[in-house]
Amino acid sequence: MVTTRFAPSPTGRLHVGNLRTALHNWLLARRAGGRFLLRIDDTDAERSREAYVDAIRRDLDWLGLRPDGEVRQSARLDLYKAAFARLVAEGRVYPAYETAQELELKRKVRLGRGLPPIYDRAALRLSAQERRALEEGGRRPHWRFRLDHDQPIVWHDAIRGEQRFDPAQLSDPVVRRADGSWLYMLPSVVDDIDMNITDVLRGEDHVSNTAVQVQIFAALGRTPPRFAHEALLVGDEGKLSKRLGSIDCDTLRARGIEPDALAALLARLGTSRPVEPVGERGVLVEEFDLSLFSRAPARFSLDELDRLNRGIVHQLPFERVAGRLPDGIGEAAWLALRPNLGRVADAGDWLAVLSGPLAPPALEPEDQALAALAAERLTWSATPWQDLTAALKTETGRSGRALFLPLRLALTGRAQGPDMAALLPLIGEREARARLRAAAGLPDGAEQLHSGGDRGA
Ligand code: GLU
Repeated sequence: MVTTRFAPSPTGRLHVGNLRTALHNWLLARRAGGRFLLRIDDTDAERSREAYVDAIRRDLDWLGLRPDGEVRQSARLDLYKAAFARLVAEGRVYPAYETAQELELKRKVRLGRGLPPIYDRAALRLSAQERRALEEGGRRPHWRFRLDHDQPIVWHDAIRGEQRFDPAQLSDPVVRRADGSWLYMLPSVVDDIDMNITDVLRGEDHVSNTAVQVQIFAALGRTPPRFAHEALLVGDEGKLSKRLGSIDCDTLRARGIEPDALAALLARLGTSRPVEPVGERGVLVEEFDLSLFSRAPARFSLDELDRLNRGIVHQLPFERVAGRLPDGIGEAAWLALRPNLGRVADAGDWLAVLSGPLAPPALEPEDQALAALAAERLTWSATPWQDLTAALKTETGRSGRALFLPLRLALTGRAQGPDMAALLPLIGEREARARLRAAAGLPDGAEQLHSGGDRGA
């Protein structure tokens, strides 16, 4: 069964780049009828925060990505210890004693000689006696995975195609610190094995980790999963932007972005498919295909997201937004308003238009006369707007903008907005007539409405 995982470190909020990786892993699993797992990479006790773990769960939920299971690395240390012991016993993990300063010096020397700044494996050449001497002198080792230089590293990347690395050009990675704590490299492989992960899909910043991990899988007697590394997101300004890293779910929610809009953008951005406001998650699942992903960085733009959001809002059914609408905006009002909204929250701006009070607009005298006539001609039926405009057109000869704009201004106080045919029934006859009269400069109010019809024309 296809099993993917999203493996964030709870050291901060998820940003759009993380959310994209999560979405793609979810889509990949759903597409194959498989499982999508959440792995909390919290081996770094210093930097991990419980509040971020909660935020990760909430953010995934907001985006509609429900994991089929969750594990935490901090609860799995025994597994890492067992794999570590095995690799030490087999000579694939070895102790190294250099301090950070010594390593930095070696790095500089190698760079100065024009050599790649990789670890020189000096620790592998220590005799047992030398190691003992170092330990007696108070040095505690950190531990490195010994890459097999005779085993070329090759994998077929579902996005990048064939990938080849010469292990001799890579540093033996540190897998465990002197204090016993774990670095990312080994636990991730142990978990991918233990959780039966079939597909590892992550950012291309992990390509060199994958090169190492391919050999760790082999050292642990396993065939590696399939790998795919996606090009990173870049900001509007073209380079890896700090700003992108600060765009999280709270920022997006505050901006009025719907999770469906974010999903529609992130699902297709960087692929050969056009970015469109696809609101049905099933469509995104069906069409998800790693072979359509480009190797070029994908450009993320908040403006594009806003545009997409507009398209998504226009499709949202009432049930999906009812809980977020102010009292006074029911289903009919929502359906009338939504084609005009960029954000669900903006529906509230139309509350006064629907139920008043509204300050009368300043109209030109001839438009005031039109409003006055409209107040008289207004009749109530299933189609009051069509009836009214048809009557006024015949009577005044006005049409198009000259007819509709003053009426819209009189009835809504705005030059633009939702379809008047949908809006007028929501405003209601009494309120509509009062507004037409007010716009005409005639006395307002229910009493005058009845006696004042003759003063209209
Ligand atoms: N915790 C790692 C990260 O956030 C996981 C990488 C992976 O997917 O293996 O980068």
